[in-house]
Amino acid sequence: MSLDGPNPAVNDVIRGFGSFNKAIRAINVFKEVGIAVSLSYTVIPDNAYYVTDMVKLTERLGVPVLTFIRVQEFGRARENGLSLSDELARMVINDLMRIRTNVKLVLNGFRFSLSDLYEVYGKSRERLNALKIINYSTCPPAGRSRFVIDPDGSVYGCELLMSKEFYEGNALRDDLRAIWRDGFRSFRDRRYVEIKPCSTCPMADLCNAGCPARAFTAFGSVNLPDPYCPIVKELINKYR
Ligand code: SF4
Repeated sequence: MSLDGPNPAVNDVIRGFGSFNKAIRAINVFKEVGIAVSLSYTVIPDNAYYVTDMVKLTERLGVPVLTFIRVQEFGRARENGLSLSDELARMVINDLMRIRTNVKLVLNGFRFSLSDLYEVYGKSRERLNALKIINYSTCPPAGRSRFVIDPDGSVYGCELLMSKEFYEGNALRDDLRAIWRDGFRSFRDRRYVEIKPCSTCPMADLCNAGCPARAFTAFGSVNLPDPYCPIVKELINKYR
């Protein structure tokens, strides 16, 4: 369930008048009939200051999981020039690190803003290696363990890349098993070893060149690195 503010004043400016109360009613109905609910909060400059209040609201509602998604520069967000600066992203991370809660917090799109990025990656890698977990890189799901179907049946690997370049077929007309078996090459063939500067990056096996949708939107190809990456930003600035 999407809620972009801990109260109507913050949420309804973004989601529409009356939407906060409707969402709360729906959450309570789901809970009553035993359907699991998690909350999703898209962080934009207008609501970035309310993340801790949102955690408290989630606790009060008895919802176990809250995901903060950094606004992605796609669709209307892109048209309206909406993005979250690295400073605000860091503020969100710092605010959330200070809070004690039993709600499971998920951060999506924030990792490149961690000041101790290398350390975090190093620790995750050690842990994953110790558990003998492999294939743990970023965004393995798109086109590999999941896909999306839009209302007219069109199949794509990722909801952020629903354009003709990524069209895989139509679930109403084509054999979905065949699409799944043979399709999604743009995601399945994307390998960081062929992408610069990722091929020499110490975090590459965890990051896997980051988000292909952001790479495509920024540079016109999924076979380029995530534009949110500080190493990539530095490189762009150097050659500008
Ligand atoms: S250089 Fe590439 S692999 Fe390394 S952190 Fe940046 S996007 Fe990820």
